[in-house]
Amino acid sequence: LGRHKDETRSSHFEYNGVLFSQNNFNVFAGLCAVDTREHIDLMMRALQANQQVCTRMGAYKPRTSPYAFQGHGKSCLPDVFELAGKYGIKIVAMEITHESHIHEIDEALSNTGHPTGVMLQIGTRNTQNFELLKIAGRQQKYPVLLKRGFGITLEESLNAAEYLASEGNRRVIFCLRGMKTSASDPHRNFVDFAHVPTIKRLTRMPVRIDPSHSVGSRAQSPDGIMDIMHVTAQGIIAGANMVLADFHPAPEKALVDGPQALLIKELPRFLEDIAIAREAY
Ligand code: PEP
Repeated sequence: LGRHKDETRSSHFEYNGVLFSQNNFNVFAGLCAVDTREHIDLMMRALQANQQVCTRMGAYKPRTSPYAFQGHGKSCLPDVFELAGKYGIKIVAMEITHESHIHEIDEALSNTGHPTGVMLQIGTRNTQNFELLKIAGRQQKYPVLLKRGFGITLEESLNAAEYLASEGNRRVIFCLRGMKTSASDPHRNFVDFAHVPTIKRLTRMPVRIDPSHSVGSRAQSPDGIMDIMHVTAQGIIAGANMVLADFHPAPEKALVDGPQALLIKELPRFLEDIAIAREAY
C-alpha cells in the first residue's frame, strides 16, 4: 500500500467501472442499516436522480449492545442487490463481521443477475480483527474499505491495512471516522480529518472520510450549517478522495444511528457542498 515504497505496486484500481485513487473522488451516501424495502427503494431512487452510482447499505450491524438491532443480515441482500441493479448503482459498500458474510454476499449477488459490485467494509470495531483482515485480504473478488480503529494509533490502523495487502488484496481504501475521546467531546467522536494528508503522505491508499459517524448528530453551527457539512468540507479540502455518509428517508424510523442521518431532500445540497469543496482543494 505504499508503506514499503515498492514502486511497482499501485493502490489505484478500477472496480465495476468506478475508479478509486488518491486523485479521484467518490461519494457513498446511503442507509447505515437496511430496514425496509421501501426505504432502500427511496434511497436508491434519490441516488440515481442525483447521478450517484455508489452507496452504503448496512446488512450486518456490529452493535455495542447485544439487545440492539443487529441488522437484517442475508435476508435483505436480495432486495439490496435487486434495487441497486434497478437504479444503476454500481457499488454497494457493506460491512462484514464474519467470513460467512462474504459467502452470503456472493450467493445473493449471483442470484440477482444485476452487475452490482460490493465493497467489503471492515468497521472500526474490527480494525484489529486479524483473522477477518486475513480473510478479506485473501479473497480477490471484492475491494475492502477499512475503517480506522477508534482507540488505537494511526500506525496500528495502517498496519491493519497491511494485513489486507500482505494477503494479496491491494484494493484497499482507508477511512477516517473519528476517534474516541473524553465524554465531554461535543461530537460523537473526535473528528480526525486532519490526518487525511498524513495518510496520503505515508501510503498510496485512497482516503475516505465518514462525517456521519465522526459527528454523530445533526448539530448546527450558529450560521445554520450542520457540523456534518462543515467537517465534510474540511476533509475534502484536506484532500479526501471519498465520502461515506448516512442518509435516511425517515431518520426518526431508522433502526440504527437515525440522529446522524441526513434527509434525502438534503442530498442535492450535500453534493453541491462537496463540489464546492472539491474546487477549493
Ligand atoms: C458504519 O459505517 O456503519 C459503522 C458502524 O461505522 P464504524 O465502524 O466506523 O463505527
